[in-house]
Amino acid sequence: MSKIWYPYFQHKHMPTPLEVESAKGVYIKLKDGRQLIDGISSWWAVIHGYQHPRLDMAITSQLKKMSHMMLCGLTHEPAQKLAEKLVEITPPSLKHVFFSDSGSVGCEVALKTALQYWKNQGESNKTKFLAFKKAYHGDTTGVMSVGDPDDGMHHIFKGLLLKQHFLPAPPDRRCNKDDVDLFVNTMRQFFENNHHDLAAVIIEPLLQAAGGFNMYNKEILIELRKCCDTYNVLLIFDEVATGFGRTGRLFATNQIDVEPDLMVLGKGLTGGYMGLSATLSTENIFNTFYSDQPSHALMHGPTFMGNPLACCVAYESIETFLSENYIDKISQINSILNEELGNFSHPNVKDIRCLGATAVIELHDGSQLNNIQQKAISQGVWLRPFGHYVYTMPPYIIETSDLVAITSAMKNCVKDNI
Ligand SMILES: *Cc1c(COP(=O)(O)O)cnc(C)c1O
Repeated sequence: MSKIWYPYFQHKHMPTPLEVESAKGVYIKLKDGRQLIDGISSWWAVIHGYQHPRLDMAITSQLKKMSHMMLCGLTHEPAQKLAEKLVEITPPSLKHVFFSDSGSVGCEVALKTALQYWKNQGESNKTKFLAFKKAYHGDTTGVMSVGDPDDGMHHIFKGLLLKQHFLPAPPDRRCNKDDVDLFVNTMRQFFENNHHDLAAVIIEPLLQAAGGFNMYNKEILIELRKCCDTYNVLLIFDEVATGFGRTGRLFATNQIDVEPDLMVLGKGLTGGYMGLSATLSTENIFNTFYSDQPSHALMHGPTFMGNPLACCVAYESIETFLSENYIDKISQINSILNEELGNFSHPNVKDIRCLGATAVIELHDGSQLNNIQQKAISQGVWLRPFGHYVYTMPPYIIETSDLVAITSAMKNCVKDNI
């Protein structure tokens, strides 16, 4: 029996995990000598690949100063520099940064901040959130309540969690205008009927990732912003997955002409070196906590918030992204993904979608995913298909030949499987 309790697996049927010895660039080196191309960037985080010289250097030089320092009553340059940088590169209305140690907690902080925003203003009815089907915002109890309650991975907890409002998932971006109009009308109607108890809306902009790789149009978000403005509801963008280039721009928000009131970053924030998340908020939100009342303060403070090693490597990750033409790299990845997967068809393939450096083959029958994963490994590629989805989110430094190896493995495994 394994001493480690691994995530998501039914241990009784879990294949023995592969033991990794080291990793460099896009390559994972296994203890048995095999080498795998990482097609999913260690859960979408390792955007510069492993052992990136600039990031390695940043974190090792910080190690010689201090590896940790509490961020309460004390402060330090790595956290200050990162906060300034994040405010600089995110939408102009976002002015303040709260650090946590994971995407889930970053989203919890956004929800909690939204609730208290209304409470601090003496508004006691606004206590609920609106979320969407296919949403995923993490695994902790608060954010479980805003994940898809029926088809999401936490559906067995339905009835035990805080009860929130849900709308259907935004329609796929290739849908026709009628579908968009229908969705927008439903949304407007919902706001009209329910705005009295709505504190905030939480959504993954443009790409609902873990809940099914749903890629949808920015019109939906523009209309959502309008609804929030009309009915006095806060808008939270969960960019934990979409942030740092995954949809083709630095943030998904950069592709839309609207700004959120709260924005959550995680995953790629440190280039996958350490756990860190950031919850950014507007001046207006910050100001409702800024008063003579001690009870108006935000009572939240993860022990490891703003860890200096994490902040330092996050800063270097952002500098690397901005100074080394990452947007071009991502656009090239997108072209190759489209070229290699665009024409693929097979009786078990329901749909193929690409956005930025993300591509997914959606299957009709997802019952053989273990086989697909094993076959990809035998072709030298690390994938982690789930549900009906065989996807890639490669590190942005990947060479064309390695990317083609990933897409070939995806196609071969799907083909061989029926
Ligand atoms: C992964 C993810 C989270 C949770 O982040 P963790 O670091 O795993 O807690 C939240 N929101 C989105 C959109 C994610 O993709």
